[in-house]
Amino acid sequence: MQPKIPLTKKLVLISLTLCQVLNGWLVSKAIGQTPNDHPTEEQSIILKWLGNAGWEIRYGKTTILIDPFLTRREAVLGAEWKTDEESVLKVITGADYIFAGHSHADHIGDLPFIAKRFGSKVIGSRTTASIALTAGVDKSQLVTISGGEKLDFKYFSVQVIESVHGAVMRGGRSRRPKFEEITRPWAGPLVGSSFVEGGCYLYYFTFGKHRILHQSTGGFIEDNVTGLRSDIALLYPMNRNDSAEILMALNPKTVYVHHFDEWRNSISEGLPESNLRRVQRFARDVNSIDKQITVVIPRFLETYSLE
Ligand SMILES: [Zn+2]
Repeated sequence: MQPKIPLTKKLVLISLTLCQVLNGWLVSKAIGQTPNDHPTEEQSIILKWLGNAGWEIRYGKTTILIDPFLTRREAVLGAEWKTDEESVLKVITGADYIFAGHSHADHIGDLPFIAKRFGSKVIGSRTTASIALTAGVDKSQLVTISGGEKLDFKYFSVQVIESVHGAVMRGGRSRRPKFEEITRPWAGPLVGSSFVEGGCYLYYFTFGKHRILHQSTGGFIEDNVTGLRSDIALLYPMNRNDSAEILMALNPKTVYVHHFDEWRNSISEGLPESNLRRVQRFARDVNSIDKQITVVIPRFLETYSLE
């Protein structure tokens, strides 16, 4: 359960969109339903923000995770990586599928533990696959992608779209991280430096009538998103020019923004004011580009239902 927050603060948090309030209402309605085993066109989709670029999507009885990261700690380069299992299990109660947008620790650090615990299918680059195998995930659970695939699962399908990593600040300069990949498993253990980028992918999901695009970092390849249409876009808070480009291509009804929190801090520490201001600026940019788009600034572990 989310702690109750004062209305004034709530109004600040959601001032950008009334839709968030509506979503909250719709969610409480959806949660009371018993999901059907066989989703129909009318079956609702329930999104839950896990912090960073992490999402849980529930569709009928199917649970899909994208970039789940609950350990919320920096991976120290030479030190053995350990998932905070307790923090993960407080939030994650099952996963049929786990999608990895790229292989940095704040996206796949918890993936091996979750996959082993719940026997999840893992979809990711060969770097993600190598890291998962090294950590003891069974080969039969892995689907290795390299961009351009169309994957059909039982109740949904996904197009895998090759992307690039967004620029990050290093030493006061903004630049893209160097591309590195791991092509085979090793004897282990996983250490901080194991989590190299390994290629970046957007996932374009089809659930019944809904199209949902997930962006793992602030990058994308314009040619690869041209012609896609998604009613829902889960986006990194990009600069105005990049936002304009991707929104032009996707023409979404609703944008859920993510990866604006401090992923090294625990969820209970909340969101610093400066991060909130940054994400509000992104929301204003989106609305100045297209005022029809609803921007949702999600709250940690809050659920949003798509009807
Ligand atoms: Zn990254």
